[in-house]
Amino acid sequence: MTRVVILGGGYVTLHAYAKLVRRCARDVRRGDLEIVVISADHAHRFHGFTGELVAGMVRPDRLATPLSEAMPLARIVRGRAASVDTVGRSVSYRRDGDAAIETLAYDQLVVGTGAAEPTAGVTGLRDHGFTLRGPDEIGVLADHLATVPRSPVVVAGGGIAGAELAAAIADRGHPVTLVHAAGRILAEWSDQPRLVARAEAELDRLGVRVIPRTRLTEVTPTDAVLSDGTTLPTTTVVATTGQQPVRLPGLDRWRDERGRLRTSRTLAVTAGVWAAGDGARVSHPGTGEPVPANALWAIKGGDHIGRALVRELRGRPARLFTYPGLGRAASFGYGRGLSELYGVPFTGALAWLLRLVFFLRFMPSRSRAAGVVADLVRFAVTPRSGRRVRAVPVATPLASPAVRAEAA
Ligand SMILES: Cc1cc2nc3c(=O)[nH]c(=O)nc-3n(C[C@H](O)[C@H](O)[C@H](O)COP(=O)(O)OP(=O)(O)OC[C@H]3O[C@@H](n4cnc5c(N)ncnc54)[C@H](O)[C@@H]3O)c2cc1C
Repeated sequence: MTRVVILGGGYVTLHAYAKLVRRCARDVRRGDLEIVVISADHAHRFHGFTGELVAGMVRPDRLATPLSEAMPLARIVRGRAASVDTVGRSVSYRRDGDAAIETLAYDQLVVGTGAAEPTAGVTGLRDHGFTLRGPDEIGVLADHLATVPRSPVVVAGGGIAGAELAAAIADRGHPVTLVHAAGRILAEWSDQPRLVARAEAELDRLGVRVIPRTRLTEVTPTDAVLSDGTTLPTTTVVATTGQQPVRLPGLDRWRDERGRLRTSRTLAVTAGVWAAGDGARVSHPGTGEPVPANALWAIKGGDHIGRALVRELRGRPARLFTYPGLGRAASFGYGRGLSELYGVPFTGALAWLLRLVFFLRFMPSRSRAAGVVADLVRFAVTPRSGRRVRAVPVATPLASPAVRAEAA
């Protein structure tokens, strides 16, 4: 029997699984191939509609697909990979709630563990602030916002996630300050200055105060402290300040200066190990530059790895990763967006609609995609006062920072 182990429960994992199973489902059913997914989260989180969730337009359960539902032919292990032995071809991991280390041999390993917010550089962020990449952390933030209506919020990080989030929270009626280190927001869109200017105008329309060239340095239970010495009173600080690839001991020799796993043009890291997504350095087939860390590239990287695994299992060499890219998009409230498709910029309702169609297409569950559409239609036809959707818990609820601090 051949065993493929996939680490993580995100976009890379789901898409590698789907492409592998499309060709090899019979091998799995016959017992010739085993697919094991080790994931810290029991569900796949669809981040594309984070703004809509936080703004109360879309129910949280629409964006969380249990891994057992998304990958029915895989053995799902809820736990954290702790290290990889590439010589002996095994992974060590801890099951959720269990300190004991277990070891599992692999023939092929896919590393899709993504990245986390670098919390270490900001004093108090881990205890008193919110990050969004852990299991159900976005739902925890949405629940918290419901308990502190119209209170001031500080969002740190001026990338797409930070700008969209600031807009969504302002749309809920909170005064929002967006703090970011660069001179302008959306540094990753600097080749589209018209779209950046439009994003700045959208934030202005929503009343978001933008503070450039400044960093968040400390979070206390009552304040956000900035690098210029300013103290902003708030009980809600959200960090979208960057991406720190998840580090697994045993793979360090293949990391670049930013901690990403270097991949070859087939997306192999070394013999029997593959990587893509936020935790990997994948070169654009045209420019040779690292591709951006976003869902599209994680999805396409996962697709490629799934196909490469099929070829590997059949004794054929993997093909080169040749995906050229498609575009990017952001939302700034219902019916208002920015998008870029093959270099062509779009704004307003058309951009919002393009983004919606594109994201729905990439959701892992058709029924949940239909649910998102239903929620958005309901939001549009409901009078403003009763618009927010009811929260439906989808995972083991995590306590908000305030509750955690009280318990401690
Ligand atoms: C709030 C937010 C909004 C975003 N909005 C957009 C957007 O609008 N458009 C867009 O293109 N991109 C967006 N992104 C970025 C996009 O979500 C990421 O680029 C994408 O998720 C990367 O996919 P991945 O598979 O590499 O990692 P992820 O999808 O992050 O998956 C990583 C998985 O690994 C698991 N894991 C971590 N450590 C371990 C471990 N040691 N062992 C086992 N499992 C582990 C995690 O629990 C998770 O299941 C957003 C991100 C965030 C946080």
